[in-house]
Amino acid sequence: MTTSGAQAHERTGNVDEHKQKVLEDLIDMSHRLGQPERELVILGEGNTSARVSDESFYVKASGTQLETIDAGGFVEVSTERALAILDEDDPSDERIIELLRESGVDGSGLVPSVETILHASLLSMPGINFVGHTHPIAANAILCSENPKLLVGNRMFPDDIVCTGPSAVYVPYTDPGVKLAKAVREGVQRYVEENGFLPKLILMQNHGIIALGKTAKEVETITNMHVKSCRIALGALAVGGINFLTPANVERIFNRPDEKAREAMLFGTRKDGYSKGDG
Ligand SMILES: [Zn+2]
Repeated sequence: MTTSGAQAHERTGNVDEHKQKVLEDLIDMSHRLGQPERELVILGEGNTSARVSDESFYVKASGTQLETIDAGGFVEVSTERALAILDEDDPSDERIIELLRESGVDGSGLVPSVETILHASLLSMPGINFVGHTHPIAANAILCSENPKLLVGNRMFPDDIVCTGPSAVYVPYTDPGVKLAKAVREGVQRYVEENGFLPKLILMQNHGIIALGKTAKEVETITNMHVKSCRIALGALAVGGINFLTPANVERIFNRPDEKAREAMLFGTRKDGYSKGDG
């Protein structure tokens, strides 16, 4: 590499600007996911993260709250070091905390969330830049029930398909931390093999949900839409049962070009000024 000093300086400036923007988007997303009236998390529940580069990402520090978190509540973590924890042979809880602390690259000494390994694994997949993990009351009413898979492969209305995809990844109850990170990674890999595209939503039995987005807005939209679906399902069950869309209906909505454009508009992932009316 023969980058001149001036170019190197300019590049560093751009990197800093990019990191600042990522952190700001992550803080805003976390505040909105943490608003108590939305019933997605209480106290220190849930955690969020955002990809900085191939080398690192920001993740919520242990002991912080989404509602009030600021820049000092996030740790910049080495993706490589966080993923290396997956190769440890049955590490003790103390060893994991030590490894998590050592995975930080910002010198803050903060311990990243116990779910950092899970975030590292998801953020190293193509197109996933923001991750939001919450414990919504409406979602957990279903995930903690006798019928936890109710909304894994079933869809009730078009916007749910546009926002959360035709189906979700389901992960049976697993001990949080390394075991859960492995189970989620395997679940996502299986989903990609079966469908040929990445999932947007992961549903974890007796635990909560994970939304995967290109943007912070996408993570919020997926979370909001899934919570809405859960409330509709619970309401429909109270009035005689749910009328799910047929697989053919779901497939049709998922592949319609106007719905694809609508998805891009909703998530803020298109930069070409899409201007067609609300389809
Ligand atoms: Zn959790």
